Amino acid sequence: MGGTVKDKAKHLMAYIIPPPRSSLTRGEEGNRGGNPSKPDAPPRPARKWRILFASVAVLPGALFYSFVFAGSSRPAEPPPAGIIDMHSHVAGLGGGGSGCFVSEKLRDNWRFNIYLRSFGVKRKELEEHGDSLLVERIAGELAKSEFVAKAVLLAMDGVIAADGSLDLKRTEIYVPDEFVAEAAAKYPNLLFGASVNPYRKDALQRLDRAKKRGAVLVKWLPSIMDIDPADPKLAPFYKKLVELKLPLLTHAGQERSFSSSDDELCDPEKLRLPLSLGVTVIAAHIASTGKYHGEKSMERLARLMGEYPNLYSDISSLTQLNKLSYMKKALTRGEFSGRLLYGSDFPLINTALVSPLYYGFRLSPKKLFSILRVKNPWDRDVLLKRALGTPAEIFDRPRKLLAAGTAVRP
Ligand SMILES: [Zn+2]
Repeated sequence: MGGTVKDKAKHLMAYIIPPPRSSLTRGEEGNRGGNPSKPDAPPRPARKWRILFASVAVLPGALFYSFVFAGSSRPAEPPPAGIIDMHSHVAGLGGGGSGCFVSEKLRDNWRFNIYLRSFGVKRKELEEHGDSLLVERIAGELAKSEFVAKAVLLAMDGVIAADGSLDLKRTEIYVPDEFVAEAAAKYPNLLFGASVNPYRKDALQRLDRAKKRGAVLVKWLPSIMDIDPADPKLAPFYKKLVELKLPLLTHAGQERSFSSSDDELCDPEKLRLPLSLGVTVIAAHIASTGKYHGEKSMERLARLMGEYPNLYSDISSLTQLNKLSYMKKALTRGEFSGRLLYGSDFPLINTALVSPLYYGFRLSPKKLFSILRVKNPWDRDVLLKRALGTPAEIFDRPRKLLAAGTAVRP
């Protein structure tokens, strides 16, 4: 946002809060009906009331002004249509034989009911109708979006024990590939984002199977799935990803959506191994929060961008309340130019964590309220990110990259 909005805000504030007495000249003081013989005397009650009255009288006019005119000098172009959101989540309680799993610990966590609400379901109806209801709601809501045509729904593999079996005791959320593959087969606006823990004994076969079932990428959350991306034992897995042209979307930086997280595993520097082997890596959320060895996670990712042309990132979650400064960083730091993809991090865009209200100083009131009124969570997300300056190419890039299955030049 340039100076124009700032100027308008200043203009508006000048209306609402009159300049302090010391900044007024004696002439102005006289014009306002003050006592010219005592310019430095504290305001008398009558004057205070007049200021208050003037503020109240002027406020509606000032607001009307900003509603009607603010931003009109620089009309934001509408976002492009047919967008693919490459970062949307799904979960389930296991009903209807979905195979999904949520740990008792997370079910008891305060976040759990918020997550369910943001998916558009109640716990009771999910228990009654099974997890397919949740997928139906997601596909239905997405179908109402004006701008987002499809979303990559992300499976989430669990923690793998030393013997290669799924360790449910250490797994907080498990969303099997089969569940998401079936959802994507049923609803044309959902794409299959597979998740394979590389420590599974049959990890490579699972990658083959996922690709055959239409997977467009593989998702990891290393700090939750207990994966060390720098582990040399994972080289065959990475080579398989390259062979199958499956990008690896992996969380980077701190993670606070679960009850606990081994953040060390999400150090962007750990991505050097897959990157050097030619994997198209998408490090989520520009690795926004957290520090490693005293250096900001985002700085570590920015440096890697210069070294590896096959490294990308996404703008999912960057409008969250805990990351308000990151959207601007993503859009203005040269290292990220040509490397960012649109992602929503649904369902978190449907919680109080994200709101245009948090950008009151960067958006005109007219723009702010027009976005606030939008019911569809994807449209709200796209319009907010567009209003904050996201260029069309970032909205277009997931379609290009996922179609190619590998790095595409800007
Ligand atoms: Zn996410």
